[in-house]
Amino acid sequence: MTFRIEADRLIPGRGPALDDGVVLLEDNLISFAGPATEAPDTPDAEVVTSKAVMPGLWECHGHFMGVYEANLEKVLFTRPQVTTARAAGDAIRALEAGFTSIREVGGVGVFLAVAVDEGQIAGPTIYGSGATLSMTAGHGDFHGMPLEQSRALIAAHWGEDGVVDGPDQARAGVRRLLRAGARVIKIHASGGVMSQLDDPHLPQFSKPELEAIVDEATRMEVLVAAHCHGKRGIMAALEAGVKTIEHGTYLDEEAADAMIETGTILVPTRFIVDFLVREGASRGMPDYAKKKIQTTSEAHSDAISLAVEKGVKIAMGTDIWASGMWGRNAEELGLMVECGMTPMQAIEAATANGPATLGPQAPNSGQLVVGMDADVICLNGDPSSDVSILADSANVTHVFKGGTRVKG
Ligand SMILES: [Zn+2]
Repeated sequence: MTFRIEADRLIPGRGPALDDGVVLLEDNLISFAGPATEAPDTPDAEVVTSKAVMPGLWECHGHFMGVYEANLEKVLFTRPQVTTARAAGDAIRALEAGFTSIREVGGVGVFLAVAVDEGQIAGPTIYGSGATLSMTAGHGDFHGMPLEQSRALIAAHWGEDGVVDGPDQARAGVRRLLRAGARVIKIHASGGVMSQLDDPHLPQFSKPELEAIVDEATRMEVLVAAHCHGKRGIMAALEAGVKTIEHGTYLDEEAADAMIETGTILVPTRFIVDFLVREGASRGMPDYAKKKIQTTSEAHSDAISLAVEKGVKIAMGTDIWASGMWGRNAEELGLMVECGMTPMQAIEAATANGPATLGPQAPNSGQLVVGMDADVICLNGDPSSDVSILADSANVTHVFKGGTRVKG
């Protein structure tokens, strides 16, 4: 099947947008993308006309967790069959909102991906981590219950236990996540907000532990993504060879320079910080998290602005985990613009920069370029002047995933 998309505005993902563009989708690939005047004749193609055409969006930090509350312990006390069934609905919502690729850094994504790839359920292409790797008492451990219970419930929900201590366990942890289908390894290199007892400022995992994780992941050709708020955690992760920093709340000039030097990508997740400040309390956020989110919010927006100003490579991620919130992912673009990005920079972060957050696992997608995967969306407005158009799923008129029309 060949589709010929004729659009008033063609936004390639990287580089300048152009007026009156054509994109041709042949089988599963893009066979042309450029000005209408240069497009080949395609008498047999099905023609789609739209205001704007652009690459399918990338969510680079989501969680398919299948609970409604802003309380992660709720996940553990809901049956995994129920959370997974809800997450299937979230995957559909994401696809309808124009997200054709999800990098899922903790949750049931590795299992959803099986059913999506088989064509059993609709959804974006999901690159999951399964569980996350955390030290005992770290951000990925659940402090309010006995350790063995925490580990058992993590394994029951996300496939494998992720609480590891010492370089040998850390290495074995990477191997366990791989056997659950991980396409990216997610670790916690600092404390977090949504965990009870740890401090977001303090680093987590020792140097030998971080090095063992990165060594094993690199050898197995998967990239390591590190949750980091405090600067010490950011610097330790960078030194160990981590390639994406998630959140980056206390990133400063030195950390930004180190990220540029090492080619490390920042995934800011402004959406979740903004959401928790405004709506967390009404969504059951625990008291310990309320205290921590207040102190991190302003530092977080300053850090993103600094990263933008310095030229750190940024990919779009929201940290959405709640069922029903999926589909709102593109609100992040508006928040990134508030932090100093131009609309075109935000679009690049949400498209062309996405694949690189998977390192060796990256697909050939994220841009309207000949030969790339035909993951393409059409819109009823022009996001290159107003990214808020992307935030409403109703504005996404067509979604093509791998050349197949899945919406419109
Ligand atoms: Zn997260």
